[in-house]
Amino acid sequence: MTANLAAERPTFVTHLECSMTGERYEPDVLHGLSKGGWPLLVRYDLEAVGKAVSRDAITARETDLWRWRELLPVHRLENIVSLGEIETPLITLPRSGGPNVLIKDEGRLPTGSFKARGLVMAVAMAKELGVRKIAMPTNGNAGAALAAYASRCGIETIILAPEETPEINIREIAAQGARVYRVNGQIDECGALVGRGAREGLWFDFSTLKEPYRIEGKKTMGLELAAQMGWELPDAIFYPTGGGTGLIGMWKAFDEMERLGWIGPKRPKMFVVQAAGCAPIVRAFQQGKEHADRWEGAATVAAGIRVPKAIGDFLILRAVRESGGHALAVDDPSILHAVDDAGHHDGLLLCPEGGATLAAYRQALEAGLLEPDAKAVLFNCATGLKYPMAPANARLDLKDEIDLAAL
Ligand SMILES: *Cc1c(COP(=O)(O)O)cnc(C)c1O
Repeated sequence: MTANLAAERPTFVTHLECSMTGERYEPDVLHGLSKGGWPLLVRYDLEAVGKAVSRDAITARETDLWRWRELLPVHRLENIVSLGEIETPLITLPRSGGPNVLIKDEGRLPTGSFKARGLVMAVAMAKELGVRKIAMPTNGNAGAALAAYASRCGIETIILAPEETPEINIREIAAQGARVYRVNGQIDECGALVGRGAREGLWFDFSTLKEPYRIEGKKTMGLELAAQMGWELPDAIFYPTGGGTGLIGMWKAFDEMERLGWIGPKRPKMFVVQAAGCAPIVRAFQQGKEHADRWEGAATVAAGIRVPKAIGDFLILRAVRESGGHALAVDDPSILHAVDDAGHHDGLLLCPEGGATLAAYRQALEAGLLEPDAKAVLFNCATGLKYPMAPANARLDLKDEIDLAAL
């Protein structure tokens, strides 16, 4: 899969840029946030990229994440610690979603979630830039992906997770070689501990958007979507939004592809999907604010989107507003109902966050935020197999007469 890459190659990265002020930063040195405390974005010489590779050349390559290498920041083959980052399929949901819904099923990626996209890139860059020890707060899946990729290349990791993180996530993180601790607080409080350790020089801070390369990995969702749909983006994208890396990344990907002439100016309406029990971006969207206040008392079954405060809030809100999209909150019963529906009627086991996108899609149709014939892509960000399911306790007793016809 990495056979596509030469052992060492120039990248097309020109510089990094503060997402708030536009201030420029050197490429190929270790960065956290900008001086002002904002996320950094990676910028490329897109003219040179366009000369080096065409849309058709990309299409002819193997369909893994590394087919997009000219738009990615890694220099050296040996720094890519791959676990098999496949292109994820688009699956129809004819009965529970209707004829115009496609699910991008990210649960098929290594470690069972789309966090693999971001972390495979961030770890490769950390390795390239000589990082030996990383700490990160997580609601589960990001920690698992970091643990896997970091252990694979001998980088030490410390993972802090909120008390209510699903047990399976805690165990998979430990099983993949990280030191993981539960913390009696929310993810931003775990993040504060990680930040303190980083300031004390104990480790490198891998919190969402506090290093520049996770966005680059996550943006491959947008690149992939364009290629899979014949370079014509869907009318709407429903994205379960925590830190918003994927939404910000896809928006960046669309811009890069348009500048390359690979797609036209048409953009999907971007729908931020949050849980009613933790909806800071939805509230800020409704109030017309540029930043979102912290959500107090966050609680939802959809752990992946239980993020009370996102550092990239303004980037998420900008993308949603520019796209003509919307921010929607869905309650836990409708999330679980949507998960049931997709499983029972279409045979696709969604994670709760994926269920949230289906619930939000239904809400958007009902509220008239979306034309009924609009083509929508919903993100199922993790495999449903990682999450608690309804009990199934029916038994047959071999000591009894068993009426097979009644089964
Ligand atoms: C992390 C995560 C999200 C949120 O993704 P962001 O890009 O951080 O907003 C949604 N669903 C699942 C399952 C996740 O693990």
